[in-house]
Amino acid sequence: MPRRERALARRTSRDIRSESRLDVLHALLAAGEASRSDLARVTGLSTATVATVMGDLLSGGIVSEVRTESGGIGRPATTLRLNGDRGRVVGVDVAETYVRATVFDAALAELGAAEVATDEHRGGTDYIIDAVVRALETALERVGAAREDVLGVGVSLPGGMQRSASVSVVVPNEIWHHLDRLRERIGLPVVVDNPLKAIATAELWFGEGRRHSSMITVNLGTGVGAGIVLEGKVLRGAQNTAGEWGHSLLALGGRRCRCGRQGCVEAYVGVAGIQRTLAEIDPGHPLAAEPMQREFIEALPAALEAPTPDRAVAETIERTARYLGASIADLVAIINPEMITLTGWTAWALGDHLVPAVRRWVREESPGDSAADLAIQVSSVRKGSVTAGADTMPVAVGIATIALERFLSDVGLLTTKVPTAL
Ligand SMILES: [Zn+2]
Repeated sequence: MPRRERALARRTSRDIRSESRLDVLHALLAAGEASRSDLARVTGLSTATVATVMGDLLSGGIVSEVRTESGGIGRPATTLRLNGDRGRVVGVDVAETYVRATVFDAALAELGAAEVATDEHRGGTDYIIDAVVRALETALERVGAAREDVLGVGVSLPGGMQRSASVSVVVPNEIWHHLDRLRERIGLPVVVDNPLKAIATAELWFGEGRRHSSMITVNLGTGVGAGIVLEGKVLRGAQNTAGEWGHSLLALGGRRCRCGRQGCVEAYVGVAGIQRTLAEIDPGHPLAAEPMQREFIEALPAALEAPTPDRAVAETIERTARYLGASIADLVAIINPEMITLTGWTAWALGDHLVPAVRRWVREESPGDSAADLAIQVSSVRKGSVTAGADTMPVAVGIATIALERFLSDVGLLTTKVPTAL
């Protein structure tokens, strides 16, 4: 066999083995605890493959065996579960007004978190790096984790989409050019990625990704974007900026977006865009002048559910659903997903009010019948849903999962999908 072909064949079998391990890990994560035959049934892998994969994962300490008594007849049954004690992984979410570090065990169960508020009138690379280090150290201390137990730290940084110099942004784009300084200050294995890749990974490991191979998680907050999973893999693109759907065009010559362009999706369905819609409908409405974005969004459901529903707010939600439906239909035209989930605090606050109308508009505006069987719902990966009683947010658990994937790749158990430059 020529050398290149041999190399290809080798890489392929390694990839297949890596994919089998990932399938088994996902199945174990979903089940909590399972026997080898359960895992073979759920993953569709042969029992021989599951046995081989388990050998690899057991010797790496990634899973552990649990012996259970089977009532005195026959051999005791052996089940397997992820070995949370293998170490700790940390997910750090750098958002516009806070930095939050969440510590997980190696089975991705949340142990504790620490948050550092960031002042939106300050900023700068060193200011943000200081906040990341402070949040990380406080969180590790809070859960009693030693630095040598940390298998990896994932840091989610907003993407570099703000082109306009006139717009003040708390998290500066320059930080992407100083990742070495960030790594050096953290002093642990670090992987950096953007929040859209984190939410797509969270959905892939904890949400609908376990049942669908092509799906989109639409993030709705101050900024908006799409985490795209295409045929089982997070879509990254040449520069890892795939999914910046918030800055795709909804209206030619439309509203000015904070990126500097006109008519972006975000200028209509980002929180500031929704508030502007309300101001267009009723310029004197008290909520149109609410200075805090989160308070604004959280006041909307109450206004809709009042004994006399607020008509301006109802109209705002109708128009927002219309904008969102048209913009999601463009995603459907390009990606043709099986499933769309909505996440972020706009989705959590307004999901019940938005989703039925969004579904209708997406169906109407998508090409042909490409959205006929498309499911659209609020993501199940949200506050408190990953481990009972925990306060996990999708970005934190997603970026921690990327750090765990990187660790598994470094010890040779996965061929990573995370670009090595990050
Ligand atoms: Zn834009």
